Amino acid sequence: MSSQFPVVVIPGDGIGPEVTKATLKVLDAAGAPLEYIEKQAGLAALEQGDDVMPQDTVDSVRKHHVALKGPCTTPVGKGFTSVNVQLRKKLHLFAAIRPVRSLEGVPTRFENVDLVIVRENTEGLYSGIENEVAPGIVTSLKVATENGTERIARRAFQYIQNRDRKHLTVFHKANIMKMSDGLFLKSVEKIHGAEFPSLPYDTQIIDAGCMKLVQDPTKYDVLLMENFYGDVVSDLAAGLVGGLGVVPGSNIGHEDAVFEAVHGSAPDIAGKGIANPLALLMSGVMMLNHLNETTGEQSFKDAAENIKAAYNKTLADDQKTGDLGGSLSTDQFADAIIKRLA
Ligand code: ATP
Repeated sequence: MSSQFPVVVIPGDGIGPEVTKATLKVLDAAGAPLEYIEKQAGLAALEQGDDVMPQDTVDSVRKHHVALKGPCTTPVGKGFTSVNVQLRKKLHLFAAIRPVRSLEGVPTRFENVDLVIVRENTEGLYSGIENEVAPGIVTSLKVATENGTERIARRAFQYIQNRDRKHLTVFHKANIMKMSDGLFLKSVEKIHGAEFPSLPYDTQIIDAGCMKLVQDPTKYDVLLMENFYGDVVSDLAAGLVGGLGVVPGSNIGHEDAVFEAVHGSAPDIAGKGIANPLALLMSGVMMLNHLNETTGEQSFKDAAENIKAAYNKTLADDQKTGDLGGSLSTDQFADAIIKRLA
């Protein structure tokens, strides 16, 4: 490819800028043909006197269709609406796809974990509609729509079909939330019957499902669930393969795609130069594969394979950041990966 492909880069805040810098360094060293258009969001945007979610950033992703995004802090209990939630809603990024895999060199209780979480990203209990209906009484609205639940069900089955995966498990709590989770299940059943009748799927009540998941995650393949459950189960699943430093993600809509790690801005370690950049780098690899699929350009795939082999080798050589039991800084880990690029 002679020209560079434009992608929006949103460093975010907290550890975001550190892990973004390390990630871009590796992408460049691997020869990924990318041109970065840097835009701000979160506390970084606020500090520049802008909105937490500047319109210019949203417009830029709409224009270029692909973004790599660092984490943005979400204040607890007060303050602004989550930047992550805002961006996903504004761009209609209705599907979060989060692969959770065991890594050689990262010993955990289970080997051979290979799960993919498909999380509905725009409705459910994260609709952000909360009210104080009377003094001392608040309500939080859980939203499920036919359109929203059907499109995420379709995306999950498409994922299984296109990636040759084996089985879909739907986590729900329709025994209690009979209408909202009931609609979710009805939509899965409808889309399955009408469009993917030969693909195997089952449903599990989420509490029992979580117990089985931690007992033996290798029994699961692709997991589908609503927004809030997906947030919680993603972190739980990250814990099964080494923690939040190693789980990437993508947020996909019909038009646009934003790639970001599952972890948050980790304010407890921000600015110390010790954050693990691997989750964002892996998200960058997902972005390269997405670009290969959407443009047909082979050099994206080549760069993705090269980076993947290099970070696997780095971990296998026991070169790791502190969260994985190693002693490398963010930059040293990025350099160790670059050294192992083909
Ligand atoms: P949010 O609710 O904003 O998604 P979270 O609950 O997922 O955030 P994080 O900010 O990701 O929380 O942090 C959870 C813990 O994991 C913290 O102790 C943090 O330091 C650690 N952590 C998260 N990401 C990384 C990383 N990339 N490298 C090392 N440690 C990390």
